[in-house]
Amino acid sequence: MSLTLTVDGDRWRTHLCTVAEANPGLVPVTKGNGYGFTLGRLARKAQWLGVDTIAVGTYDELPHVATRFAGSLLVLTPWRPFGAAVELDPALAGRVIHTVGRTCDLDDLLRRRPDARFVLERITSMKRHGLSARDLWSAATTLAAHPKARLEGIALHLPLAQGSHLSEVSRLLNDVVAAELTTRTIWVSHLTPDELGSLRSSYADYAIRPRIGTDLWLGDRDALRVTATVLDVHPLERGDAFGYRGRTAPKSGHLLVVSGGTSHGIGLEAPMGDSSMKARAATLARGGLDAVGFVRSPFSIDGKQRLFAEPPHMQASMLFLPDGPRVPEIGEQLDVRVRYTATAFDRVIVT
Ligand SMILES: *Cc1c(COP(=O)(O)O)cnc(C)c1O
Repeated sequence: MSLTLTVDGDRWRTHLCTVAEANPGLVPVTKGNGYGFTLGRLARKAQWLGVDTIAVGTYDELPHVATRFAGSLLVLTPWRPFGAAVELDPALAGRVIHTVGRTCDLDDLLRRRPDARFVLERITSMKRHGLSARDLWSAATTLAAHPKARLEGIALHLPLAQGSHLSEVSRLLNDVVAAELTTRTIWVSHLTPDELGSLRSSYADYAIRPRIGTDLWLGDRDALRVTATVLDVHPLERGDAFGYRGRTAPKSGHLLVVSGGTSHGIGLEAPMGDSSMKARAATLARGGLDAVGFVRSPFSIDGKQRLFAEPPHMQASMLFLPDGPRVPEIGEQLDVRVRYTATAFDRVIVT
């Protein structure tokens, strides 16, 4: 009935422990759809792992994790003097670490809460949010006037690795050192284990805290299996009409109705497939089914990705299986290829 994520519990937990051991100061990132697992489950897992801090993406996500994880809660979206940031539950104020990315926000935050906990984000080549080198100087001046303020570190959000980040990180850290800020903690994102290693040796008096989501939760794909259920199977003759749009079958085969649709995040194009122009041209030349408008689905039968009969429905999808391969039975589970960060599973089963 469901689109299900089945997790090999032993294998997953072993992987989580391996990542935690390899990354002292690890800050697990729990945001969005909880990388497919849900935020609450990741918060409990982080508690089990024994880390002292987790990161959430937004202030609105705090209620999902705060009762399941007992430590500090870093919010990755920068604090602003409006919206969810200023509506923070006072009961959480002592546990929340804000991210500050503008000098005016630092003034404003400390005026509202002189003892606020926060990291100062230094802008990187990603150019998403953060302070310039000059802003760091000015922040140091502000902080000198706020003895109760709790600066928890400097945050760097780097682009996904294309070559080494190290020269950029060294440049940014030199700005931090030059600004004479009192902190000795650097929160980093998207550094490789090697880069983290050399950073730790070059800046031995700094604590480096890697913020990791994907490589932690989704780093061992073989621990994860995504399945849909075959809900119905109908034989089709060439020319038979089916679906919302009254489309007709280009040849005889079967129509399969399977669980999983747009509400789960099942899209029209299967992610990460071999959809190169060359592959497409080859199928067209053979007069394959995608030449008549059928699109490859993320659902596979006996190891082969099958075609959508029409665009996915809200909670189910229709597949067209031409005569030839084995026809699955109602109730059978099919493997599904998904983007975990964009999929809402009906069930997550940890064995
Ligand atoms: C999402 C996010 C991360 C975690 O990214 P992954 O690629 O999932 O490890 C780290 N830092 C920041 C600022 C983020 O927004």
